[in-house]
Amino acid sequence: MPAETEVLVVGGGPGGYVAAIRAVQLGLDTTLVEREGIGGTCLNHGCIPSKALITATDQVHEITHSEEMGIYAEPYLDIPELFAWKDTVVDDLTGGIANLLRRKSVTLVDGTATFASETSATISQADGETVTLDFEHAILATGSRPIELPGFNFGSDPILDSRQALATDRVPDRLVVVGGGYIGMELSTMFAKLGSAVTVVEMLDDIMPAFPAHLVDPVREHATELGIDCQFGLAADHWEETADGIEVVAENQSGESESFDCDAAVVAVGREPVTDTVNLPAAGLDPGENGFIETDDQGQTDVDSIFAVGDVAGEPMLAHAATSEGVVAAEQIAGEEPTPPSTTPAIVFTDPEVSSVGLSEREAEDAGYDPLVGHFPFSASGRALTAGDTAGFVELVASGDTGRVLGGHVVGPEASELVGELTLAVEGGHDIPDLAELVHPHPTLSEAIGESAENALGQAINTTNKR
Ligand code: FAD
Ligand code: NAD
Repeated sequence: MPAETEVLVVGGGPGGYVAAIRAVQLGLDTTLVEREGIGGTCLNHGCIPSKALITATDQVHEITHSEEMGIYAEPYLDIPELFAWKDTVVDDLTGGIANLLRRKSVTLVDGTATFASETSATISQADGETVTLDFEHAILATGSRPIELPGFNFGSDPILDSRQALATDRVPDRLVVVGGGYIGMELSTMFAKLGSAVTVVEMLDDIMPAFPAHLVDPVREHATELGIDCQFGLAADHWEETADGIEVVAENQSGESESFDCDAAVVAVGREPVTDTVNLPAAGLDPGENGFIETDDQGQTDVDSIFAVGDVAGEPMLAHAATSEGVVAAEQIAGEEPTPPSTTPAIVFTDPEVSSVGLSEREAEDAGYDPLVGHFPFSASGRALTAGDTAGFVELVASGDTGRVLGGHVVGPEASELVGELTLAVEGGHDIPDLAELVHPHPTLSEAIGESAENALGQAINTTNKR
């Protein structure tokens, strides 16, 4: 453990560990302090375990819904084995990253960092030793934690946060999911495919409020087909024990109560920044009104020596945003004057998946554009038909004047992968003819992007030119 370092990174999630590697690549002596597990929320309790379980449950669902292809199967699902496999995926990845950090000469410290001043921190190491570390710059990457609703204490057994829901290998017969956002809908879909009878209790009048309704429609419709009961306009208030489990009590806007019987409830009503582990006042840092650390585009806080990246610095609270911000902050500290990307794609791993980058049609109108919109349904895609997965569509939004692509949105198979090309189009300033003229290999789902661009130009080949 050194007494001084050029860059101190606090937190080893996708924001912090990537920032540390980039800082070392740029020649800066860098120390990364992580109090719990390298990889942070994303690798240990979020993106990776959830996607492992979602992929496995998708496979089971597909194989049991392929009679049309002449496939009749009754797979046996060993739940403890499935959850143990998910743990090996997490361990492989986090172990690999810890090795990578050491091989790249990042000084890795197992402990908690708290600021002592603008340029020094106290490090309480896991072995019980406490040392002072002086730094020239610090990158705060302490992430976020689930918001605990009053009346729903995460410590009590039947009430789970997302981390507990992904860690337990108990599949409740009846599950209430409070909150129909990113986590609520990913976990509802997963548990429904594992056999739980799922009820989603959502305060607003639809699921996934961050996305336009027409992108969410196919997700809601398929959730209903999976047996997920979506209850809208109800704010969860408290829970009570019943003779055979618990009931979640929710209230509508008029104060009327409705209750939902279940064996367990997952509460996913948003996440809040982790700032109480670092002694912000000692560094002269003050969180903004909503508790997040405010920064400029390069991640610099009000204190010259301190940067903040990832969830602790606010929306979008996504792993790839944290990573990108971590790289930018490290480059800025190294004097590189980086230009941060202008767009961040978002994906929800529901069934079907939803992905979105840049402006929606409405947002383009609000920004003063007369948008040109292209559309292509997967029901007309050869590849989607061969995969037996035709729900959803690709939508492109462009400037009506210049044809420049402003946004791209996908709901349907592999939406999470297709958004890569759309992100390049938006970030790279490409226009609709670029996408229409690009040779997309056949038969692939990516052809839907080319077809959508042709639709915007009124020259669609494989559909009529109507939306
Ligand atoms: P974190 O990953 O939260 O890491 C912060 C780290 O800081 C933690 O390891 C913590 O132990 C450490 N720390 C805190 N205080 C201190 C201290 N004082 N000293 C030392 N260490 C400290 N995003 C996606 O893009 N795609 C997904 O599919 C996705 N799925 C998700 C699924 C779930 C269930 C959840 C909960 C989140 C998901 N996310 C997803 C969001 C993603 O996990 C976060 O955006 C991402 O982890 C943020 O990275 P971060 O580095 O800012 O913080
Ligand atoms: P969220 O903001 O996506 O959704 C929370 C939902 O809870 C909202 O729809 C809200 O209206 C509802 N709600 C709030 N209070 C309620 C109450 N009392 N009763 C009923 N409903 C209530 O939050 P989340 O799902 O907890 O996810 C947190 C963040 O984690 C996301 O915003 C996202 O940044 C990140 N995440 C990303 C991914 C991904 O990229 N695929 C996956 C999971 C999480």
